[in-house]
Amino acid sequence: STVFIAKESDSDETRVAASVDSVKKMTALGLNVVVQKGAGAGSKVPDEAFAEAGAKLGTATGAKTADVVLRVRRPTDAEIKGYKKGAVVIAIMDPYGNEKALAALAKAGLTCFAMELMPRITRAQVMDVLSSQANLAGYQAVIDASHEFERAMPMMMTAAGTVPAAKVFVMGAGVAGLQAIATARRLGAVVSATDVRPAAKEQVASLGAKFIAVEDDEFKAAETAGGYAKEMSKEYQAKQAELVADHISKQDIVITTALIPGRPAPKLVSKAMLKTMKPGSICVDLAVERGGNVEGAKAGEIADVEGVRVIGYNNVAGRIAASASQLYAKNLLSFLETLINKDEKTLAIDPEDELVKATMLTHDGKVVHPNFGGADD
Ligand code: NAD
Repeated sequence: STVFIAKESDSDETRVAASVDSVKKMTALGLNVVVQKGAGAGSKVPDEAFAEAGAKLGTATGAKTADVVLRVRRPTDAEIKGYKKGAVVIAIMDPYGNEKALAALAKAGLTCFAMELMPRITRAQVMDVLSSQANLAGYQAVIDASHEFERAMPMMMTAAGTVPAAKVFVMGAGVAGLQAIATARRLGAVVSATDVRPAAKEQVASLGAKFIAVEDDEFKAAETAGGYAKEMSKEYQAKQAELVADHISKQDIVITTALIPGRPAPKLVSKAMLKTMKPGSICVDLAVERGGNVEGAKAGEIADVEGVRVIGYNNVAGRIAASASQLYAKNLLSFLETLINKDEKTLAIDPEDELVKATMLTHDGKVVHPNFGGADD
Protein backbone atom coordinates (compact mmCIF):
# COMPACT_ATOMS: atom_id res chain seq x y z
CA SER A 1 0.00 0.00 0.00
CA THR A 2 1.04 3.59 -0.61
CA VAL A 3 0.96 6.15 2.23
CA PHE A 4 0.88 9.84 1.34
CA ILE A 5 2.08 12.47 3.85
CA ALA A 6 0.31 15.71 2.97
CA LYS A 7 1.66 19.22 3.31
CA GLU A 8 -0.90 21.04 5.45
CA SER A 9 -2.80 23.71 3.54
CA ASP A 10 -4.00 25.71 6.56
CA SER A 11 -1.54 28.58 6.95
CA ASP A 12 -1.85 28.31 10.77
CA GLU A 13 -0.70 24.70 10.76
CA THR A 14 2.99 24.15 11.39
CA ARG A 15 2.83 20.45 12.21
CA VAL A 16 3.28 17.48 9.88
CA ALA A 17 1.83 13.97 10.07
CA ALA A 18 5.15 12.12 9.84
CA SER A 19 8.61 12.13 11.38
CA VAL A 20 11.87 10.69 10.14
CA ASP A 21 11.32 7.87 12.59
CA SER A 22 7.74 7.14 11.51
CA VAL A 23 8.78 7.10 7.82
CA LYS A 24 11.51 4.59 8.63
CA LYS A 25 9.03 2.38 10.49
CA MET A 26 6.38 2.59 7.74
CA THR A 27 9.00 1.72 5.13
CA ALA A 28 10.13 -1.21 7.25
CA LEU A 29 6.52 -2.41 7.34
CA GLY A 30 6.71 -2.67 3.54
CA LEU A 31 4.65 0.46 2.88
CA ASN A 32 5.48 2.78 0.03
CA VAL A 33 5.75 6.26 1.59
CA VAL A 34 5.37 9.45 -0.44
CA VAL A 35 5.97 12.79 1.29
CA GLN A 36 4.62 15.96 -0.31
CA LYS A 37 7.53 18.35 -0.81
CA GLY A 38 7.78 20.97 1.91
CA ALA A 39 5.47 19.02 4.27
CA GLY A 40 8.01 19.13 7.10
CA ALA A 41 9.11 22.74 6.69
CA GLY A 42 7.12 24.09 9.66
CA SER A 43 8.49 21.32 11.86
CA LYS A 44 12.10 21.72 10.77
CA VAL A 45 12.19 18.40 8.90
CA PRO A 46 13.73 18.99 5.46
CA ASP A 47 12.55 16.98 2.44
CA GLU A 48 15.97 15.29 2.23
CA ALA A 49 15.60 13.92 5.77
CA PHE A 50 12.34 12.21 4.77
CA ALA A 51 13.99 10.93 1.56
CA GLU A 52 16.93 9.51 3.50
CA ALA A 53 14.46 7.75 5.79
CA GLY A 54 13.06 5.93 2.75
CA ALA A 55 10.25 8.17 1.46
CA LYS A 56 9.75 9.32 -2.11
CA LEU A 57 9.18 13.03 -2.52
CA GLY A 58 6.11 14.07 -4.48
CA THR A 59 3.67 16.86 -5.19
CA ALA A 60 -0.02 17.16 -4.28
CA THR A 61 -0.93 14.99 -7.30
CA GLY A 62 0.85 12.10 -5.54
CA ALA A 63 -2.22 11.75 -3.34
CA LYS A 64 -4.25 10.43 -6.30
CA THR A 65 -2.68 6.96 -6.10
CA ALA A 66 -2.37 6.77 -2.30
CA ASP A 67 -4.25 4.13 -0.31
CA VAL A 68 -3.68 6.04 2.92
CA VAL A 69 -3.35 9.81 3.44
CA LEU A 70 -1.88 10.96 6.75
CA ARG A 71 -2.58 14.56 7.75
CA VAL A 72 -2.73 16.85 10.75
CA ARG A 73 -6.02 18.53 9.78
CA ARG A 74 -9.09 17.47 7.85
CA PRO A 75 -8.59 17.93 4.08
CA THR A 76 -10.39 20.75 2.29
CA ASP A 77 -13.04 20.04 -0.35
CA ALA A 78 -10.46 20.92 -3.03
CA GLU A 79 -7.91 18.48 -1.57
CA ILE A 80 -10.47 15.69 -1.34
CA LYS A 81 -10.89 15.87 -5.12
CA GLY A 82 -7.28 14.76 -5.43
CA TYR A 83 -7.80 11.57 -3.38
CA LYS A 84 -8.60 8.12 -4.70
CA LYS A 85 -12.06 6.71 -4.01
CA GLY A 86 -11.77 4.24 -1.13
CA ALA A 87 -8.63 5.84 0.28
CA VAL A 88 -8.15 5.97 4.04
CA VAL A 89 -7.60 9.45 5.50
CA ILE A 90 -6.37 9.78 9.10
CA ALA A 91 -6.23 13.22 10.75
CA ILE A 92 -7.50 15.41 13.55
CA MET A 93 -10.88 15.79 11.86
CA ASP A 94 -12.60 18.33 14.10
CA PRO A 95 -15.97 16.72 13.34
CA TYR A 96 -18.25 18.52 15.82
CA GLY A 97 -20.34 21.15 14.08
CA ASN A 98 -18.74 20.27 10.74
CA GLU A 99 -21.40 17.87 9.43
CA LYS A 100 -21.21 19.37 5.92
CA ALA A 101 -17.53 18.64 5.67
CA LEU A 102 -18.15 15.07 6.89
CA ALA A 103 -20.81 14.61 4.21
CA ALA A 104 -18.29 15.72 1.58
CA LEU A 105 -15.73 13.20 2.86
CA ALA A 106 -18.37 10.46 2.71
CA LYS A 107 -19.51 11.46 -0.77
CA ALA A 108 -15.93 11.25 -2.04
CA GLY A 109 -15.91 7.60 -0.93
CA LEU A 110 -13.15 8.14 1.61
CA THR A 111 -12.73 6.10 4.79
CA CYS A 112 -11.91 8.78 7.34
CA PHE A 113 -10.65 8.35 10.89
CA ALA A 114 -10.66 11.08 13.54
CA MET A 115 -7.65 10.67 15.82
CA GLU A 116 -9.21 12.82 18.54
CA LEU A 117 -12.01 10.27 19.02
CA MET A 118 -9.54 7.57 20.08
CA PRO A 119 -10.82 5.94 23.28
CA ARG A 120 -8.69 6.69 26.32
CA ILE A 121 -7.94 3.10 27.15
CA THR A 122 -4.61 1.53 27.94
CA ARG A 123 -4.22 -0.12 24.52
CA ALA A 124 -4.72 3.23 22.75
CA GLN A 125 -2.56 5.41 25.00
CA VAL A 126 0.22 5.47 22.40
CA MET A 127 -2.34 6.78 19.86
CA ASP A 128 -3.82 9.47 22.12
CA VAL A 129 -3.34 12.74 20.22
CA LEU A 130 -5.32 14.75 22.76
CA SER A 131 -2.78 13.80 25.42
CA SER A 132 0.35 14.15 23.28
CA GLN A 133 -0.65 17.59 22.04
CA ALA A 134 -2.14 18.84 25.34
CA ASN A 135 1.04 17.88 27.14
CA LEU A 136 3.11 20.10 24.85
CA ALA A 137 0.51 22.88 24.94
CA GLY A 138 0.69 22.90 28.75
CA TYR A 139 4.45 23.27 28.58
CA GLN A 140 4.30 25.96 25.90
CA ALA A 141 1.67 27.94 27.84
CA VAL A 142 4.22 28.50 30.61
CA ILE A 143 6.96 29.40 28.13
CA ASP A 144 4.62 31.89 26.43
CA ALA A 145 3.60 33.35 29.79
CA SER A 146 7.19 33.74 30.94
CA HIS A 147 8.08 35.42 27.65
CA GLU A 148 5.40 38.07 28.15
CA PHE A 149 5.95 38.37 31.88
CA GLU A 150 9.16 40.44 31.66
CA ARG A 151 10.12 39.38 35.17
CA ALA A 152 12.08 36.39 36.43
CA MET A 153 10.14 33.24 37.34
CA PRO A 154 12.40 31.90 40.11
CA MET A 155 13.35 33.71 43.25
CA MET A 156 16.78 35.22 42.58
CA MET A 157 18.96 36.34 45.45
CA THR A 158 21.68 38.63 44.19
CA ALA A 159 24.07 41.18 45.67
CA ALA A 160 21.77 43.84 44.23
CA GLY A 161 18.72 42.45 45.97
CA THR A 162 16.15 39.68 45.78
CA VAL A 163 13.68 39.10 42.96
CA PRO A 164 10.64 37.24 44.32
CA ALA A 165 9.45 33.99 42.74
CA ALA A 166 6.50 34.37 40.39
CA LYS A 167 3.15 33.05 41.60
CA VAL A 168 1.48 30.83 39.00
CA PHE A 169 -2.09 29.51 39.28
CA VAL A 170 -3.20 26.71 36.94
CA MET A 171 -6.96 26.20 36.47
CA GLY A 172 -7.84 22.75 35.18
CA ALA A 173 -5.35 20.02 36.12
CA GLY A 174 -5.79 17.51 33.29
CA VAL A 175 -3.03 16.60 30.86
CA ALA A 176 -2.20 20.20 29.84
CA GLY A 177 -2.62 21.62 33.33
CA LEU A 178 -0.38 19.04 35.00
CA GLN A 179 2.36 19.71 32.47
CA ALA A 180 1.94 23.45 33.03
CA ILE A 181 2.34 22.91 36.77
CA ALA A 182 5.47 20.80 36.26
CA THR A 183 6.98 23.35 33.86
CA ALA A 184 6.27 26.33 36.11
CA ARG A 185 7.79 24.44 39.03
CA ARG A 186 10.92 23.65 37.00
CA LEU A 187 11.27 27.39 36.34
CA GLY A 188 11.09 28.04 40.06
CA ALA A 189 7.60 29.57 40.34
CA VAL A 190 5.37 29.11 43.37
CA VAL A 191 2.52 27.08 41.87
CA SER A 192 -1.08 26.43 42.88
CA ALA A 193 -3.84 24.72 40.91
CA THR A 194 -7.53 23.92 40.91
CA ASP A 195 -9.83 21.37 39.31
CA VAL A 196 -13.32 20.01 39.87
CA ARG A 197 -12.26 16.35 39.80
CA PRO A 198 -11.15 14.93 43.16
CA ALA A 199 -8.54 12.73 41.43
CA ALA A 200 -6.68 15.88 40.45
CA LYS A 201 -5.97 16.77 44.08
CA GLU A 202 -3.31 14.12 44.63
CA GLN A 203 -1.76 14.65 41.18
CA VAL A 204 -1.39 18.37 41.82
CA ALA A 205 0.13 17.74 45.25
CA SER A 206 2.56 15.16 43.85
CA LEU A 207 3.96 17.84 41.54
CA GLY A 208 4.63 20.10 44.50
CA ALA A 209 1.80 22.54 43.88
CA LYS A 210 -0.91 23.66 46.29
CA PHE A 211 -4.44 22.42 45.51
CA ILE A 212 -7.27 24.89 45.88
CA ALA A 213 -10.89 23.87 45.34
CA VAL A 214 -14.38 23.89 46.78
CA GLU A 215 -14.40 20.30 48.05
CA ASP A 216 -18.11 19.80 48.68
CA ASP A 217 -20.33 16.78 47.87
CA GLU A 218 -20.71 17.88 44.26
CA PHE A 219 -16.91 17.98 43.88
CA LYS A 220 -16.68 14.44 45.28
CA ALA A 221 -18.97 13.23 42.44
CA ALA A 222 -17.65 15.42 39.63
CA GLU A 223 -15.61 12.82 37.78
CA THR A 224 -17.39 10.77 35.09
CA ALA A 225 -16.64 7.10 34.47
CA GLY A 226 -14.50 8.24 31.53
CA GLY A 227 -12.33 10.32 33.85
CA TYR A 228 -13.66 13.65 32.58
CA ALA A 229 -15.24 16.58 34.38
CA LYS A 230 -18.99 17.22 34.51
CA GLU A 231 -20.46 20.64 33.97
CA MET A 232 -20.87 22.00 37.50
CA SER A 233 -24.07 23.47 38.95
CA LYS A 234 -24.66 27.23 39.15
CA GLU A 235 -24.28 26.99 42.94
CA TYR A 236 -20.92 25.26 42.69
CA GLN A 237 -19.69 27.73 40.09
CA ALA A 238 -20.58 30.62 42.38
CA LYS A 239 -18.73 29.08 45.34
CA GLN A 240 -15.76 28.30 43.08
CA ALA A 241 -15.68 31.88 41.75
CA GLU A 242 -15.69 33.30 45.26
CA LEU A 243 -12.78 31.11 46.36
CA VAL A 244 -10.81 31.71 43.19
CA ALA A 245 -11.37 35.50 43.09
CA ASP A 246 -9.42 36.09 46.28
CA HIS A 247 -6.62 33.75 45.17
CA ILE A 248 -6.26 35.26 41.69
CA SER A 249 -5.73 38.75 43.10
CA LYS A 250 -2.43 37.51 44.55
CA GLN A 251 -1.13 35.80 41.38
CA ASP A 252 1.31 36.96 38.70
CA ILE A 253 0.34 34.38 36.08
CA VAL A 254 -2.91 32.45 35.60
CA ILE A 255 -3.03 29.56 33.12
CA THR A 256 -6.45 28.11 32.29
CA THR A 257 -6.97 24.72 30.63
CA ALA A 258 -10.50 23.71 31.71
CA LEU A 259 -12.64 21.78 29.24
CA ILE A 260 -15.81 19.72 29.44
CA PRO A 261 -16.29 17.18 26.65
CA GLY A 262 -19.00 18.21 24.20
CA ARG A 263 -19.75 21.51 26.02
CA PRO A 264 -18.38 25.03 25.72
CA ALA A 265 -15.41 25.70 28.00
CA PRO A 266 -16.51 26.84 31.50
CA LYS A 267 -16.01 30.55 32.21
CA LEU A 268 -13.69 30.68 35.20
CA VAL A 269 -12.00 34.10 35.19
CA SER A 270 -14.11 37.26 34.97
CA LYS A 271 -13.01 40.76 34.02
CA ALA A 272 -13.60 41.77 37.64
CA MET A 273 -11.08 39.13 38.75
CA LEU A 274 -8.51 40.28 36.19
CA LYS A 275 -8.92 43.82 37.46
CA THR A 276 -7.67 42.78 40.91
CA MET A 277 -4.37 41.44 39.53
CA LYS A 278 -1.13 43.43 39.74
CA PRO A 279 0.05 45.48 36.74
CA GLY A 280 2.06 43.32 34.33
CA SER A 281 0.18 40.15 35.22
CA ILE A 282 -0.32 37.51 32.54
CA CYS A 283 -3.14 35.11 31.77
CA VAL A 284 -2.95 32.26 29.25
CA ASP A 285 -6.27 30.80 28.05
CA LEU A 286 -5.60 27.39 26.52
CA ALA A 287 -9.35 26.85 26.12
CA VAL A 288 -9.75 29.88 23.85
CA GLU A 289 -10.56 27.79 20.76
CA ARG A 290 -13.45 26.17 22.64
CA GLY A 291 -14.98 29.46 23.81
CA GLY A 292 -12.40 30.33 26.45
CA ASN A 293 -12.15 30.18 30.24
CA VAL A 294 -11.27 33.86 30.54
CA GLU A 295 -13.62 36.76 29.90
CA GLY A 296 -12.22 39.00 27.16
CA ALA A 297 -9.77 36.41 25.76
CA LYS A 298 -9.47 36.62 21.98
CA ALA A 299 -8.52 33.64 19.82
CA GLY A 300 -5.24 34.19 18.04
CA GLU A 301 -4.36 37.33 19.99
CA ILE A 302 -2.85 38.78 23.11
CA ALA A 303 -5.68 40.93 24.44
CA ASP A 304 -5.30 43.63 27.07
CA VAL A 305 -8.15 43.01 29.51
CA GLU A 306 -8.33 45.24 32.58
CA GLY A 307 -4.55 45.72 32.48
CA VAL A 308 -3.78 41.99 32.23
CA ARG A 309 -2.30 40.59 29.05
CA VAL A 310 -4.49 37.64 28.15
CA ILE A 311 -2.73 35.27 25.75
CA GLY A 312 -5.16 33.42 23.47
CA TYR A 313 -2.94 31.74 20.91
CA ASN A 314 -4.55 29.18 18.64
CA ASN A 315 -2.93 25.80 18.07
CA VAL A 316 -0.51 26.11 20.98
CA ALA A 317 0.99 22.67 20.34
CA GLY A 318 1.80 23.97 16.84
CA ARG A 319 3.97 26.66 18.46
CA ILE A 320 6.33 23.85 19.43
CA ALA A 321 5.91 22.13 16.09
CA ALA A 322 9.00 19.96 15.90
CA SER A 323 8.14 18.17 19.15
CA ALA A 324 4.39 18.16 18.45
CA SER A 325 4.91 16.55 15.04
CA GLN A 326 7.26 13.95 16.44
CA LEU A 327 4.66 12.80 18.98
CA TYR A 328 1.72 13.12 16.58
CA ALA A 329 3.57 11.05 13.97
CA LYS A 330 4.08 8.32 16.58
CA ASN A 331 0.37 8.44 17.51
CA LEU A 332 -0.55 8.02 13.82
CA LEU A 333 1.97 5.28 13.14
CA SER A 334 0.71 3.27 16.12
CA PHE A 335 -2.87 3.51 14.87
CA LEU A 336 -1.92 2.76 11.26
CA GLU A 337 -0.14 -0.40 12.42
CA THR A 338 -3.47 -1.71 13.73
CA LEU A 339 -5.02 -1.22 10.26
CA ILE A 340 -2.34 -3.15 8.36
CA ASN A 341 -1.97 -6.83 7.69
CA LYS A 342 1.75 -7.16 8.32
CA ASP A 343 2.16 -10.34 6.22
CA GLU A 344 0.40 -9.02 3.15
CA LYS A 345 1.62 -5.43 3.74
CA THR A 346 -1.81 -4.12 2.83
CA LEU A 347 -4.71 -2.46 4.61
CA ALA A 348 -6.96 -4.80 6.57
CA ILE A 349 -9.47 -2.77 8.57
CA ASP A 350 -11.41 -4.74 11.15
CA PRO A 351 -14.79 -3.02 11.53
CA GLU A 352 -15.29 -4.80 14.87
CA ASP A 353 -12.13 -3.38 16.46
CA GLU A 354 -13.14 -0.92 19.19
CA LEU A 355 -10.56 1.60 18.01
CA VAL A 356 -12.00 1.51 14.49
CA LYS A 357 -15.55 1.77 15.82
CA ALA A 358 -14.67 4.78 17.93
CA THR A 359 -12.78 6.75 15.30
CA MET A 360 -14.23 5.87 11.87
CA LEU A 361 -16.30 8.79 10.60
CA THR A 362 -17.04 7.84 7.01
CA HIS A 363 -16.93 4.65 4.95
CA ASP A 364 -18.43 3.37 1.71
CA GLY A 365 -20.03 6.70 0.82
CA LYS A 366 -21.71 7.17 4.22
CA VAL A 367 -21.15 8.94 7.52
CA VAL A 368 -20.92 5.92 9.81
CA HIS A 369 -20.11 7.39 13.23
CA PRO A 370 -23.09 7.31 15.63
CA ASN A 371 -22.27 10.77 17.05
CA PHE A 372 -22.74 12.30 13.62
CA GLY A 373 -25.92 10.64 12.48
CA GLY A 374 -24.29 7.45 11.28
CA ALA A 375 -26.43 5.13 13.37
CA ASP A 376 -29.66 6.36 11.79
CA ASP A 377 -28.63 5.44 8.24
P1 NAD B 1 -9.87 18.00 29.48
O1 NAD B 1 -8.93 18.56 28.47
O2 NAD B 1 -11.22 17.57 29.04
O3 NAD B 1 -10.07 19.09 30.66
C1 NAD B 1 -8.98 19.70 31.29
C2 NAD B 1 -9.22 19.76 32.78
O4 NAD B 1 -10.18 20.77 33.07
C3 NAD B 1 -9.75 18.48 33.40
O5 NAD B 1 -8.86 18.06 34.40
C4 NAD B 1 -11.09 18.89 33.96
O6 NAD B 1 -11.43 18.19 35.14
C5 NAD B 1 -10.89 20.36 34.22
N1 NAD B 1 -12.12 21.15 34.43
C6 NAD B 1 -13.32 21.05 33.79
N2 NAD B 1 -14.20 21.94 34.28
C7 NAD B 1 -13.54 22.65 35.24
C8 NAD B 1 -13.93 23.71 36.11
N3 NAD B 1 -15.14 24.22 36.09
N4 NAD B 1 -13.00 24.18 36.98
C9 NAD B 1 -11.74 23.65 37.01
N5 NAD B 1 -11.34 22.66 36.23
C10 NAD B 1 -12.21 22.15 35.34
O7 NAD B 1 -9.19 16.80 30.27
P2 NAD B 1 -7.89 15.95 29.90
O8 NAD B 1 -6.70 16.76 30.19
O9 NAD B 1 -8.04 15.44 28.52
O10 NAD B 1 -7.92 14.75 30.93
C11 NAD B 1 -9.03 14.41 31.73
C12 NAD B 1 -8.70 13.19 32.55
O11 NAD B 1 -8.48 12.05 31.73
C13 NAD B 1 -7.45 13.31 33.38
O12 NAD B 1 -7.69 12.68 34.59
C14 NAD B 1 -6.43 12.54 32.63
O13 NAD B 1 -5.39 12.08 33.43
C15 NAD B 1 -7.29 11.43 32.11
N6 NAD B 1 -6.65 10.80 30.95
C16 NAD B 1 -6.59 9.43 30.87
C17 NAD B 1 -5.97 8.83 29.78
C18 NAD B 1 -5.89 7.33 29.68
O14 NAD B 1 -6.22 6.64 30.59
N7 NAD B 1 -5.42 6.80 28.55
C19 NAD B 1 -5.44 9.58 28.78
C20 NAD B 1 -5.52 10.96 28.87
C21 NAD B 1 -6.14 11.56 29.96
